[in-house]
Amino acid sequence: MIHSRLTQERYQRREDAAAKRYKRHVDAAAKLVIIAVIVLTGVGLWKTSDKRGQKLLAVVRHCTAVMGTDCSIAATVEPGRRAYAEKFLRRAEAALRNAEALLSTWLDDSELGRFNAAAADRHVPLPAESLHVLHTAHDAFMQTNGAFDVTCRPIIELWRTAPRRGAVPTRAELDRARTESNWDLIRLTDSGAVKLADTVRVDLGGIAKGYAIEQAADVLRRAELAGGLVEVGGDIVCFGRPPSGESWKVDIKDPFDAGRLARLRLPNGGAVCTSGNYARFSQLAGRRYSHIIDPRTGQPADVTHSATVVAADAVTADIWATALSVLGPAGFDLMPHGVEAMTVTGTKDDPKIHCTPGFRRLMKKPTMTTISTPRRYEEE
Ligand code: ADP
Ligand code: MG
Repeated sequence: MIHSRLTQERYQRREDAAAKRYKRHVDAAAKLVIIAVIVLTGVGLWKTSDKRGQKLLAVVRHCTAVMGTDCSIAATVEPGRRAYAEKFLRRAEAALRNAEALLSTWLDDSELGRFNAAAADRHVPLPAESLHVLHTAHDAFMQTNGAFDVTCRPIIELWRTAPRRGAVPTRAELDRARTESNWDLIRLTDSGAVKLADTVRVDLGGIAKGYAIEQAADVLRRAELAGGLVEVGGDIVCFGRPPSGESWKVDIKDPFDAGRLARLRLPNGGAVCTSGNYARFSQLAGRRYSHIIDPRTGQPADVTHSATVVAADAVTADIWATALSVLGPAGFDLMPHGVEAMTVTGTKDDPKIHCTPGFRRLMKKPTMTTISTPRRYEEE
């Protein structure tokens, strides 16, 4: 009996120790997950906090299958307003999905899918929003000296289908794709667009995500929230007050590794978009080819491994992240005032990290050696 009780007590102690170990294990796993989430999505930690004497709560909504990836939408509110915040998070998600449907060029029955399929010399009516995005894309084409070009869809298709065809596109194929589709062959009108050749096709993949998160953030901005954040596949817009601390914190992924390259502090919020050749690429004969194309050569933009841009709005940040993937730090000079950027070139063993001085000021602790590259008009 005594023996049995002792055994029982010992057993209980063992169980308790195991439970503690298990809890530690679970906590560690949870932390790992949080770190992984930060790295993957670039979103800072969510906590309740006491700031300026007022408790704030982060209400977060995660959704899947938005623009081929996952998204997080969050609102900072006073406790007790959770239900109110959730209503706006649902509306913000609807805005994201609406923008996706509007701008998708891969869905044949979308407005732009119909534009791509349309015959030459016919006026294709387009909703005001899609038309606005096309005008913005054309402005970007001019500002980036042709590095950002939504009309290079036939070139993108050649590279996308290269693994299936078992060969990289030939020079002749690339040249033909370039002459088949370009801005000289598109006329934008007040209510739609006209193609001057059947072969003209656009791809809004380099601007759609920025537009979508900006639309969703607008829904949150119009609600009475302390702050808000929308993130799709690592591209982020945030505004107002973060749930903890004085600034929104955004992590930038290391393009060579699983870890974080830098952490940004955005006291006033803003948009942060990253483009890179490390997450999406085609692979052929053991070589990786970036999904971003240099429209001037028709070749994948493989020199810049990642480009991160901070701007007041996500459309600008998304455009310039793609453009800098093509141009590298030489593109800093072309960026408008108020747009800050960082590019990563070089190799894993000898990375070259170029930043505008304004970008470096946003970095929490520059964890690596950066090459400050002031633009022609700015002093460091
Ligand atoms: P991500 O979608 O990973 O954020 P980007 O924002 O840079 O990356 O968008 C890349 C997408 O933009 C490509 O998948 C393609 O659809 C399109 N694209 C590729 N090259 C260009 C370019 N030079 N200009 C404009 N769009 C491009
Ligand atoms: Mg992007």
